[in-house]
Amino acid sequence: MKLEAIIGLEIHAQIATKTKMFCSCDNNAFGAPPNSRICPVCTGQPGVLPVPNKKALELGVKAALALNCEIPRNSKFDRKNYFYPDLPYGYQISQFDEPISVNGKVEISLNGEKKEIGITRLHLENDAGKLSHVGNFSLCDYNRAGTPLMEIVSEPDLRSAAEAKIYAEEIQKILQFVGSSNADLFKGEMRFDASVSLREVGTDKLNPRAEIKNLNSFRALESAIDFEIGRQKKLWSANKIPDSDSTVGWDEEKGETFLMRAKESAADYHYFPEPDIPALVLEKEFVESLRSELPELPLARRERFVAELGITDDDARNLTESKNLANYFEEVAKISGNAKKSAAWILSELLARLHEAEITIEEQKITAENLGQLVKKISTGEISGKIGKEIFPEMWATGQAVEKIIESKGLKQISDGGEIEKLLDEAITKNPDAIADFQNGKERALGAIVGEVMKLSKGQANPAKVNELLKKKLAE
Ligand SMILES: [Zn+2]
Repeated sequence: MKLEAIIGLEIHAQIATKTKMFCSCDNNAFGAPPNSRICPVCTGQPGVLPVPNKKALELGVKAALALNCEIPRNSKFDRKNYFYPDLPYGYQISQFDEPISVNGKVEISLNGEKKEIGITRLHLENDAGKLSHVGNFSLCDYNRAGTPLMEIVSEPDLRSAAEAKIYAEEIQKILQFVGSSNADLFKGEMRFDASVSLREVGTDKLNPRAEIKNLNSFRALESAIDFEIGRQKKLWSANKIPDSDSTVGWDEEKGETFLMRAKESAADYHYFPEPDIPALVLEKEFVESLRSELPELPLARRERFVAELGITDDDARNLTESKNLANYFEEVAKISGNAKKSAAWILSELLARLHEAEITIEEQKITAENLGQLVKKISTGEISGKIGKEIFPEMWATGQAVEKIIESKGLKQISDGGEIEKLLDEAITKNPDAIADFQNGKERALGAIVGEVMKLSKGQANPAKVNELLKKKLAE
């Protein structure tokens, strides 16, 4: 029997607001002392009233629009009831049957093949606090309680762990480009739940699934799904096909999933409309004004880089890793007038250094203007690539402009006609064969002469000038 995996993802992403979902506490509590970003509202004291954060709603709608969702005019918040010590209200304020958005889709590409993944809905909710377990005690930090979240639920359209990872990465990029979430996995701003089941290829029945909870990295997402597919395949081949949904956890160290509980259903949560918050009415004008603020999305940008700037699909993918990197590349390409060379310098020289120094494009010293000028000088032949490679490390270390580095390092280009002629004569004497080959019609043979001149000048001769004078000499 040939089996296929049916995978759906729920992605929770922290919305990039200044304050929490229903109170004015600081939403950026990363690294703050425990329980230092709390108030009576987010700790559920008696008599308090939640007030929805308008910015969180706007950013949620923008994200939904970027995921091609429909925004119904009417939506509302609901209470999802359950007890847990990190949830002081005894319920979570979420959205059940009338979320802010439905019916979206996102396009992913895996090994050059494009595929559309359906988005069931994107809804808003607030986060719980955080428990940590020390010896026999459990400690509760409510800094995260009340943080605005969006939950993005996909259709079960994913067929492999690799696809699920690519999809999650694409969602992360979209949220970052739109500015709805920083989606920083390291800070826990994005988490995944993955539902996995198997079925016989050719059938369309959905079998009971295992939901893997709280995966917090792309690697964990991929490994956990792979493991779960393998585990279920063994059950199928032993004829023990799962007959009910289950909730499982991921043990990173052991590299395996473990059973947490039988999956709860919506009825277990006894959802009902949140009585303290009026229903939402999102007018068309409000939605359309947010749509008009959407930036160019990662996929569109990648395709434009390939079509307009003539760089490869792989390079375009790497250069749209973040919005800031994409902006930086575009600026460098514009200033240098040479997109391919700009891409090459950024991808081979700059990114390697960023990686090594573990910093981001915003934290390094080379401005787009300075790199653009360097690439321009190289591509117009004003300086050689070799000198460029000497200038670059200095630029990285000091952030200085090209001219200044050329001056201070004595890398002055040799453009003087007389001096280059002397070098040319010497090179021609050394390579009589090259000239003979050229005269026999081998145009390429001249490369040896130019190379010799560059060597003799220690890379400082102006290559454009060398070519020009050589052609002139041969035409005589
Ligand atoms: Zn608060």
